[in-house]
Amino acid sequence: MEGAGVSIRRSFPTANLEDLDPFLLLDHMGPIQFAPGQAVGFPDHPHRGFETVTYVLEGAMEHRDSKGNHGVLGPGDVQWMTAGSGVVHSEMPGEELRKKGGRLEGFQLWVNLPKAAKMTAPRYQEVAAERLPVVETPSKDAKVKVIAGESLGQHAAIETRTPMLYLHFTLQPGASVTQAVPAEYNAFAYAIDGAGLAGPTPLNEGHLAVFSKDGDRVELSNPASARKPFNVLLIAGAPIGEPVARYGPFVMNTKAEIYQAFEDYRTGRMGVIEAR
Ligand code: MN
Repeated sequence: MEGAGVSIRRSFPTANLEDLDPFLLLDHMGPIQFAPGQAVGFPDHPHRGFETVTYVLEGAMEHRDSKGNHGVLGPGDVQWMTAGSGVVHSEMPGEELRKKGGRLEGFQLWVNLPKAAKMTAPRYQEVAAERLPVVETPSKDAKVKVIAGESLGQHAAIETRTPMLYLHFTLQPGASVTQAVPAEYNAFAYAIDGAGLAGPTPLNEGHLAVFSKDGDRVELSNPASARKPFNVLLIAGAPIGEPVARYGPFVMNTKAEIYQAFEDYRTGRMGVIEAR
């Protein structure tokens, strides 16, 4: 449970896997079915030193922050928030979902910032589903939604500070794809729905596969005997290679910087969300 009581599956950080430089966290929210008036989310909280990437699959998330940004993310939309020097935000189910109930499912990925960019000005980017390219393979049995990086010859609409790939593949039974991944990247796959293969390794729903660094491509496939499509995220990025000091919503390079972040939050230097 996170926030005000949202059930999530957290692939990392865990006791066994602290981070996957430059990635700090991967949460799969839901899918949750909320009753009318029962939907909960993540009320006002701060962040500093990294970026949060929210990808909604179903339902809606409403964002407000101390920089005056406000947006509602619907199915397929992506929000890329650079917390940088500090922002206070709330991430709540959309108004209709709160009133009428319904399903919510989505992802949040935390991408670290290098020391030189940790105190950069906060930035908020919202990308509607229509602007995110989706490409089919020539055999038409697989498609990819390109959130960051490049796949099947298509470049993403979002430019990222840290070179990375964020791809959502949908593979029909019998389909396979080979994705180029720079050898220096850390790479992992997360099975959203269905069960397929990451390289030769079975990857079941809700599980994470971490790829070895010796190689420059990744193969994902769905066995011909599968009964449903295999939906899988492939995420990879260039490691930053700097010390990580993290506590709760803050990710810095040293403990002293974490104490400073708490102090700055406590004294209101990260701002507050204006009355709504
Ligand atoms: Mn947050």
